[in-house]
Amino acid sequence: MKNKNKFLFFHGIGSKIAIIIICVGIIPFLVCVPISLHAYDSVSIHTDATNLMAQAVSYNNQIVTSGYLTGDSQNEVLDTELKSVAESYNGRILIINSSLKIVKDSFSADIGKTVIWENIIYSMQGQSLYYYDKVTNYLIVTVPLTNSDGDTVGVYVVNKSMDYLDQNKDMFISYMLIGVVIILSLTIIIAVLTSIRYTRPLKKMSKSLDAIIRESETVLPETKSYKELEDISSKFNEVISKLHSIDESRQEFVSNVSHELKTPLTSMKVLADSLNGSDDVPIEMYKEFMVDIGDEIDRETKIINDLLSLVRMDKSGAVLNITAVNINELIEHILKRLKPIADKADIEVVFESFRPVVAEVDEVKFTLVVTNLVENAIKYNNEGGWVHITLNSDHQFFYIKVEDNGLGIPEDSVDFIFDRFYRADKSHSREIGGTGLGLAITKSAIAMHNGEIKVRSKLGEGSTFDLRIPLNYIEKEDEA
Ligand code: ADP
Repeated sequence: MKNKNKFLFFHGIGSKIAIIIICVGIIPFLVCVPISLHAYDSVSIHTDATNLMAQAVSYNNQIVTSGYLTGDSQNEVLDTELKSVAESYNGRILIINSSLKIVKDSFSADIGKTVIWENIIYSMQGQSLYYYDKVTNYLIVTVPLTNSDGDTVGVYVVNKSMDYLDQNKDMFISYMLIGVVIILSLTIIIAVLTSIRYTRPLKKMSKSLDAIIRESETVLPETKSYKELEDISSKFNEVISKLHSIDESRQEFVSNVSHELKTPLTSMKVLADSLNGSDDVPIEMYKEFMVDIGDEIDRETKIINDLLSLVRMDKSGAVLNITAVNINELIEHILKRLKPIADKADIEVVFESFRPVVAEVDEVKFTLVVTNLVENAIKYNNEGGWVHITLNSDHQFFYIKVEDNGLGIPEDSVDFIFDRFYRADKSHSREIGGTGLGLAITKSAIAMHNGEIKVRSKLGEGSTFDLRIPLNYIEKEDEA
């Protein structure tokens, strides 16, 4: 359990912020310290070598004229001076003649010996060189000695101990360590404070969400934190209120369904009870009541069928069976089927097509759309009224208009006619067998085809439903 908690800590955003800040504080140090030390070494060696070369040049004349190189005479003043210079470097000075023989040695140890080393040979050809020996920690500088004619007559070799570099570096490192400790402590403090500062609102939000899950709260409280979190919090509130309204509409839907399904059952029960409750009921009355009971059963069946259509349409991932459909033929076919109802109420149905239209639609679902609209235009009409259906298209969409001069829809109902079980005129709608589900089904089917439906209506004058559907069906990405 303890291990798991440790693991969770490193998964948290707070620990990540802290680690990033500590790395940002420390990494420059870790990179810069070795580079600085290397640079310090290089610069010190180069400076020392340049100084030693300048010093050699300043001794050039004295050495050349001293007779060292020819072995003619001795110069004790110069001897002592070179010796003390060599000692001050904790090193050694050698003077080598043109035959590569040591003619002067501040240690007086190797006089007369021959030295063959590439730097000495190069210097004999006129070059001043230096070499740093990492193992012995010595800097070796070789400088040509020239006579008054400019000819190289020997080489001045000076060794200098570079131990002071290590001592200086140790000091440098100890200062750096103090710096690292100070910076590390500061970054840890900053990291901890920043991580607390940035994780506190998240923890607060998590607590509020817990409260919402436990249903003791309904919204996330407004907190002033940082923009991204405030955005998330307001989006959470939007989602929560959407979920609430979905829940409310689901409850309303369930209670509407129960009510709608119960109404025909109640009627049947009343009819059956009145037959059962009275003796000697004439056979005509029995027949009449049985016809009424049959009507109620038809009504119940229609409600259930409409509900099933709606549920199938609402189901996420509902499948569309898209084919290329001749819309002119489809409308003509529907009008033929609806003709008897129109004739019954003496309603003239006119279909006008501006061009032949073939579109990619689900034939069954699209038939439901047109049937519902035309059926409503006939149902909510006056005897002797008319219904006009027009079909048109452009390169992208096809348009269907269903217009009638019937009852019209009250202004305050227009916005709700696509809601489930909504009826503008309850009693009339029930009378003519409406379930209040037709336009909800129509709207869902149109949405599935990525189309749009609009309604204009005036009470007592009639209604117009305008449809716009893409000619080619494009599957939405989330459906795909
Ligand atoms: P219903 O089964 O009751 O016809 P709909 O969903 O098809 O249900 O229609 C919802 C309501 O919209 C209807 O009850 C009716 O009041 C109104 N309505 C729909 N179409 C028309 C129309 N063409 N003319 C007048 N009212 C209409």
